[in-house]
Amino acid sequence: MIHSRKQFMLYGYYDNESDDDVNSEANARRINNVEQCFGSSGQPLGIPGRVLVGEGVLTKMCRKKPKPRQFFLFNDALVYGNIIIHKKKYNKQHILPLEDVKLDNVADEGNLRNGWKIMSPSKSFIVYAATATEKKEWMAHIRKCVNDILAQRGLRQSTSIDSPVWVPDSEAKTCMHCRKSEFTVVNRRHHCRHCGIVACNPCTGKRWLLPQQSSKPIRVCLTCYQKLSNEASEFSASRKHSVITGGDHPNSSGEDSSEDDDDPARDGMPSADQIAIHDAHFQSYD
Ligand SMILES: [Zn+2]
Ligand SMILES: [Zn+2]
Repeated sequence: MIHSRKQFMLYGYYDNESDDDVNSEANARRINNVEQCFGSSGQPLGIPGRVLVGEGVLTKMCRKKPKPRQFFLFNDALVYGNIIIHKKKYNKQHILPLEDVKLDNVADEGNLRNGWKIMSPSKSFIVYAATATEKKEWMAHIRKCVNDILAQRGLRQSTSIDSPVWVPDSEAKTCMHCRKSEFTVVNRRHHCRHCGIVACNPCTGKRWLLPQQSSKPIRVCLTCYQKLSNEASEFSASRKHSVITGGDHPNSSGEDSSEDDDDPARDGMPSADQIAIHDAHFQSYD
């Protein structure tokens, strides 16, 4: 099987002047194909006016280790999922509306090269491209789409608070809050949903409602709990009524594993998608 040399496949979104029926037909076919690949595990993606700008494999830093994920850049959303069969089957779909997305550069460190942060209120993480060129392409295209959608909708860059990028488990041998508790099989690592540190159970014993991430109160460290409590009391003092109520958020349970797309059952096992790393490339459909 021959893979294209380029990881980031671009579909000619910038040929707007020649935006004819052939283009829109091809676009509809591509979007339908992405939908098919996710099957019942994904949401319908064919929205009027939506264009699939490009797609490719990026290595996403997950809780346990970096893992390849298929990313789809639409003109209004960034969608990604786990690769079951390359170009055929994906699952665990995540959709980030582009108007909420911000990017930030990440410096090269050891083997982790060509990375950048993708930040949004519901999810934030670091991804790595195979080459510096691809990183540049991805970042430029995402930024262009974000700016275009903001301009089109008459919005400014989102000022909402982004969810934290989680510190990978491997970076913390001891609790980053108390600095004492050493992690073992029994003394599990937990992540503060507000600042992203890895901390022990007692140091993350409190819960707080962060509605962008979950409909239920979720785990926060003691420092964040204190900070959020202070902010809330200041807020309610100035407002009289506290407005912290839970809304319906269909796909969040507030449980530890639910907010990460790692498979917790595979702890320490080499996964199939780990082997497929950098196998596929970003391609262009022009
Ligand atoms: Zn601790
Ligand atoms: Zn915290």
